[in-house]
Amino acid sequence: KMPVPSDIEISQSCILKPIDQVGKEIGLLPDELELYGQTKAKVHLSVLSRLKSQPDGKYVIVTGITPTPLGEGKSTTTIGLVQALGAHLHQNVFACVRQPSQGPTFGIKGGAAGGGYCQIIPMEEFNLHLTGDIHAITAANNLVAAAIDARMFHELTQTDEALYTRLVPSVSGVRKFSDIQIRRLQKLGIKKTDPMALTKEEVKLFVRLDIDPDTITWQRVVDTNDRFLRKITIGQSPTEKGFTRTAQFDITVSSEIMAILALADGLEDMKKRLGRMVVASNKRGEPVTADDLGVTGALAVLMKDAIKPNLMQTLEGTPVFVHAGPFANIAHGNSSVLADKIALKLVGKEGFVVTEAGFGADIGMEKFFNIKCHYSGLQPHVVVLVATVRALKMHGGGPTVTAGVPLPREYMEENLQLLAKGCSNLNKQIQNARMFGVPVVVAVNAFKTDTKAELALVVKFAKEAGAFDAVECTHWAEGGKGALALARAVQRASQAPSNFRFLYNMELPVIDKIRLIAQKVYGASDIELLPEAQQKIALYTKQGFGNLPICMAKTHLSLSHDPEQKGAPTGFILPIRDVRARVGAGFLYPLVGTMSTMPGLPTRPCFYDVDLDPVSGEVNGLF
Ligand code: ADP
Repeated sequence: KMPVPSDIEISQSCILKPIDQVGKEIGLLPDELELYGQTKAKVHLSVLSRLKSQPDGKYVIVTGITPTPLGEGKSTTTIGLVQALGAHLHQNVFACVRQPSQGPTFGIKGGAAGGGYCQIIPMEEFNLHLTGDIHAITAANNLVAAAIDARMFHELTQTDEALYTRLVPSVSGVRKFSDIQIRRLQKLGIKKTDPMALTKEEVKLFVRLDIDPDTITWQRVVDTNDRFLRKITIGQSPTEKGFTRTAQFDITVSSEIMAILALADGLEDMKKRLGRMVVASNKRGEPVTADDLGVTGALAVLMKDAIKPNLMQTLEGTPVFVHAGPFANIAHGNSSVLADKIALKLVGKEGFVVTEAGFGADIGMEKFFNIKCHYSGLQPHVVVLVATVRALKMHGGGPTVTAGVPLPREYMEENLQLLAKGCSNLNKQIQNARMFGVPVVVAVNAFKTDTKAELALVVKFAKEAGAFDAVECTHWAEGGKGALALARAVQRASQAPSNFRFLYNMELPVIDKIRLIAQKVYGASDIELLPEAQQKIALYTKQGFGNLPICMAKTHLSLSHDPEQKGAPTGFILPIRDVRARVGAGFLYPLVGTMSTMPGLPTRPCFYDVDLDPVSGEVNGLF
């Protein structure tokens, strides 16, 4: 057999259909497509109203067992499955995936377009810039950050009267509140609309957000792994009159605006969520929002194109939506609700929409159900759980697997004992999927070092553990053809009864919701709330945010909080260090241990290999 060429070689060697042709094939009208060159297009949200009466297709979620740091092939399997269903079994299909951050592309992990003969193409377009959605988020996020510090500065250096004159200026002798200012007055319980009628007390209330700088949770962002921005001092120029404070940059994909893009179900909903974002508390302990800062309308304008899903294609010419890419730990790690909704209409009743959730089933899938499906109202039909022999051997006690280092011998030779022991993790993740009432198909993603006996063992184990079906897949090396058995299993599973249910009721107290996830999904015996977490839960409950879903920020490398604990640990106490809120996106996120929101670059980052051929214009070295 010929060795499989590099991802970018495969990507560049295939023939792309013009993207307007892809749009036509899937039933989009020419004016519903906004072309960004030949290979990418944005799709208008108006498709949703045009196809309102069309029944939805089958909704398939791809997730995985607890992975090694190398990733076990969820993206690759998502693409392999749609290629098999679409290009080989001639079903209507759509893959809906996240847009990758430029951080990992130039950092450690590389791109995220799938791999081998299962890719989204052109992969260099997919991995970098795309149509600028992430740049729009950076711009919107940083406008909020600038608004916070400028507002604090102005409040600290001006009297109430001076602030009022500037906030509500008189234009040709007439003072008028803007819409967003009227919203603020209503929130303050001031029922007046004439700016001249406010009392001194009311003016004071109106002009002073009184942000408590110690409570600011809004950070600046940039989509580059830049570790020296993890803690900075801002305001050091003399023009800021000594009002310095320590702040930080996060990576753009961890911005709340990214989570909002992923969860919004239209322009109006996005605007509402943007306005609700809480950036700090005031000195009385009340939440200060983007609406209070007056910035909501500008944010919506910056985000108006980003909200349209991006159409691309797979190596075998099937359609893909690439849209939104929220962090999978401090956010929910799933692509957009809007892309899924449009795709479900476009494929029609008999078609399939395959989407992917970040990390393992304990994190990405749990959040897919309890957060994404909670907000979208969509009903999933099938879970595809990706497993690999290498990760299961690691769970059975195999040596540590590290990116960039050759795999130890245990992973290169047959070892049924380690493998059988590690299947405890597969079992737990199968039960996790079944708990939500959805049939689960296990996809064993075959690597060339796996033996027949090893692959057969995993398939047999998965079936005995209660999977609807389990199959071996070779799509990475063979394209859609290698995922035909998986595609047929998914077709059968989609006909089986799905009794989808959420894990918890939103009205439960915050602590109970966290405990349910810890015990039922992770296998913990209980949770332990550290003082910071207790205070925050009390604060958010008091502020009226206690009924939001929970977005756990936990390591993806173990079912527990300790990345070293492999397999399916039980009996541990899950420590909750702190709890934070994303009120606009609509979730609370408990921090299990410390979570970095700004990755760093390794000694030899991926960018060493990236190059441009100045003659042909070809991009090399992305993977
Ligand atoms: P995930 O989405 O779970 O993080 P990916 O699909 O991105 O995983 O795969 C991780 C990496 O492993 C990619 O570089 C991909 O090309 C590679 N890979 C996936 N499956 C195989 C396979 N069967 N054989 C060889 N490499 C693979």
